[in-house]
Amino acid sequence: MLVVMHSTATQEQIDNVVEAIRRMNLTPHPLPGAIRTAIGITGNISAVDPRTLEVLPGVTELLRVTKPYKLASREMHPDDTIVSVANTRIGPGTFTIIAGPCSVENEEMILKTAEFLRSQGVRLMRAGAFKPRTSPYAFQGMGQKGLDILVKARETTGIGIVTELMDTEYADAVEAAADIIQIGARNMQNFSLLRRVSQTRKPVLLKRGLSATLEEWLMAAEYVMAGENYNVILCERGVRTFSDHSRNTLDLSVIPPVKTLSHLPILVDPSHGTGKRDYVPSMAMAALAAGADGILIEVHPDPDRALSDGAQSLDFAGFTKLLDKLRRLAEPLEKTVN
Ligand code: PEP
Ligand code: MN
Repeated sequence: MLVVMHSTATQEQIDNVVEAIRRMNLTPHPLPGAIRTAIGITGNISAVDPRTLEVLPGVTELLRVTKPYKLASREMHPDDTIVSVANTRIGPGTFTIIAGPCSVENEEMILKTAEFLRSQGVRLMRAGAFKPRTSPYAFQGMGQKGLDILVKARETTGIGIVTELMDTEYADAVEAAADIIQIGARNMQNFSLLRRVSQTRKPVLLKRGLSATLEEWLMAAEYVMAGENYNVILCERGVRTFSDHSRNTLDLSVIPPVKTLSHLPILVDPSHGTGKRDYVPSMAMAALAAGADGILIEVHPDPDRALSDGAQSLDFAGFTKLLDKLRRLAEPLEKTVN
């Protein structure tokens, strides 16, 4: 349910409605807009008599939100969400580049990558310290040591850090190290993990599950937002289909419906989406053209020697070339790449 306040409603009237919602054992979510404030309500609203709220001073109307996801829906929040992080803003008008190796492998390659990215004007670096690998014998990531290296990279270069949290046990450590906490595709419906990150105050990059529908994905975002962490960034990384010409099928057709149904920013990961570095640039360009708010892309100083996902990683020269193309394509689309 959504309580729409009058455009002239005072802060006191807004606070009064918020309090009334709390007294009903429901959770209020004030949503300030350009013209007026609305207050989203989550919890078991079936027992609420809407008239109790309708009669309060400053209230214009009460709207029922029809979608099962409430806070993630555009019905409740008509304006696009902008996530402010690490000297940048993810959302309308911007095409955000989050680049870096699949995994933190050692300090040298991370510092080298961070310095290279900063020299290219990139503000956010991705790299996993905890890696979800299909095989238990594959490189599992450096864990806490990897996080320490990422923190050092931020301290020395000023780059923002995006890194994956795989289980609740390491939530404090990842929250401390990251500017954005990544939830991987395999954990999109790990509800205890989603609840845990809803309690952090860092933005959450929520990858789409390998076989998740759009509704399931937005419901996963809702878990994070229900805990009052409203900074969720969606990331399309390809889904499983019968196609065998690429690692996954990058579902760029999900972008327009995401934009219609939700106000959350959406990034595209062309690296996991294709699995092959030769296909990555075209899909990155296509993501920009299709209306995505940015990309999450794997870049490695020496991809052929990478400990994970080398085949889908661009080298520095390949990345520079792509960035130049993206900047040129962004211009007529009225977006700034950074
Ligand atoms: C990653 O970004 O390195 C990763 C493991 O991605 P996904 O969860 O999409 O497989
Ligand atoms: Mn990877």
